[in-house]
Amino acid sequence: MKCPVCRATYRPADRELKIEKQGAGVEQSLNLSSQCRRCGVDLSPLICLHDQAIWWHRQAIRAFKANDYTAAISWNNWAIALHTQNADFHALAGQLWALQGEFGKAIASLKKTQQIEPKHPAVAFFEIVLQPKAE
Ligand SMILES: [Zn+2]
Repeated sequence: MKCPVCRATYRPADRELKIEKQGAGVEQSLNLSSQCRRCGVDLSPLICLHDQAIWWHRQAIRAFKANDYTAAISWNNWAIALHTQNADFHALAGQLWALQGEFGKAIASLKKTQQIEPKHPAVAFFEIVLQPKAE
């Protein structure tokens, strides 16, 4: 996630990791800021959108585990709509499309994953399974 004012990268994952490791309430005690570290602008509205996208993505995973792929794709599309630059969202979309036999859409999603995060595990799968090297 980038600051809309100065384009500095903000990593909510760092914040989430600290909260996950040390429990709720750590946010205040560690003074984890929702301000841009470079220009100081308040990023909390963006963080709210990010958290909402994560919540939708988790609903998608829940639906996926229940074999409800149609619902999973819907939830995941909401997540992507809010946060287009998350490689995990596009990787899940690729897997869901592949499971439904929609390989064109699956490849498009995995290419998007690769653009965002070239070392994503789903990309390794994409290179091995979907693009076998010529002998
Ligand atoms: Zn900034």
